[in-house]
Amino acid sequence: MKVTLWFTLFMMLILTITSGILLFTANRVKQLTIQNRLIETVTDVEKAKKFEMAEKIALPIEDVYISIYDEEGNFVSGILPQEISQRIPLQEDTIREIHEKGKSWYVYDEISKKERGTLLWVRGIFSTSSLFEGENMLLKLFVHSLPLLVILVAIIGYGIIKRGFRPIDNIIETAEKIGEGADLTQRISLGEGHDEIHVLANTFDHMFEKLERAFEKEKQFTADASHELRTPLSVMRAQCEYGIEQAATLEESKENLREIHSQILKMSSLVGDLLTLTRVDEDKEFVREKEEICFSEMVSLIVEQQRELAQEKEIEIKTEIESDLNFYGEQTLLMRMIMNLIENAIQYGKYGGNVWVSLWKEGKIIKLQITDDGIGMEERHLDKIWNRFYRIDESRNPRGNNVGLGLSFVKWIVKAHNGEISVKSQPGKGSTFIASFQEGKE
Ligand code: ADP
Repeated sequence: MKVTLWFTLFMMLILTITSGILLFTANRVKQLTIQNRLIETVTDVEKAKKFEMAEKIALPIEDVYISIYDEEGNFVSGILPQEISQRIPLQEDTIREIHEKGKSWYVYDEISKKERGTLLWVRGIFSTSSLFEGENMLLKLFVHSLPLLVILVAIIGYGIIKRGFRPIDNIIETAEKIGEGADLTQRISLGEGHDEIHVLANTFDHMFEKLERAFEKEKQFTADASHELRTPLSVMRAQCEYGIEQAATLEESKENLREIHSQILKMSSLVGDLLTLTRVDEDKEFVREKEEICFSEMVSLIVEQQRELAQEKEIEIKTEIESDLNFYGEQTLLMRMIMNLIENAIQYGKYGGNVWVSLWKEGKIIKLQITDDGIGMEERHLDKIWNRFYRIDESRNPRGNNVGLGLSFVKWIVKAHNGEISVKSQPGKGSTFIASFQEGKE
């Protein structure tokens, strides 16, 4: 409404000013033309010495009334408009405008010498009243049609503007719907288009989509976390109930407590993981204490630590570690990453099998590869294993102490160190994880 009002006012202003200027110029041009015609006709009569002829003039020449006066100003011959008296004072070579009986006229006088030296005046009179009748009509027409024009301009303008603003109404409507019902599935859906409003709507849709995904992820995360916490809690509850009601001997009670203790350990490790995850989400600068690390030493050390675990499954860890490869990063995070990958290789490796750990440099890139010859994974799982709480099959994890957070940490740690990680795997044959990092600082 505001826009319509403004532009209607503006249009009216422009229309009035331009019409005013046009009318004024047209009048001025007409005035000058008429004055010239008056002068020319009078001069013509004077030059041609048509005084005798003027006596016979009974009609105006080109609408100019010609009359002749003698030296004393007495009317000699010619014609005068009815409304004009004969005694208008003579004045040489100037156009005057006189008003008589409600009408106006241009009067122009010129002196002419006769052959014998006597003087005569030639007078031309032109009616200006009829001259501006056309313009006056136009002016009236304009003034009368102005309100109609205003209404027309306002209605059409309003229609156009409303059409133009409809997409914005859509945007507001969708935003309100989302705001009221927190329904993030709503979209503006304006379709294809390259103008600003389409770009804006598409940006909003894109944002809504991202928000929806983020909310879904959040919901999923809370559901998964609660689920994971519920399992040890129910085991503990059952153990407690059994201990209170059934346990007869001290040994039985101790067995109960041992089970409860192991569940508590599992829970505290899970809670620790969850806390780390919130830190990961909130803090972009999670990697705070970066330092120069001898990657080669770190990998060798962790391999030695893991040999005991490997021994339980009679797995042999074989290494091929290039020495003195340095890297800039946070020690505890990098250790956790390497440990997670080797633990997985052992856990999902086959009994009596092998795990290969290699570290080498290609140009400026340090590569860490961990391979096992265990159960492997099907292709369809490979891009999902990095998601939080994603486990392929719980039966693959007989000890039941893994919740599917390990690889999501690994992925995040690699990313936080500007690295990349990929996986190749074949069911029944084994898996290979390769992480690559830039050598030295950043
Ligand atoms: P978890 O804590 O259950 O090990 P991860 O995030 O570490 O969770 O791994 C996700 C899933 O990927 C695991 O449930 C497992 O099935 C699969 N996986 C991970 N590493 C390997 C591997 N080396 N070989 C076969 N499967 C693996």
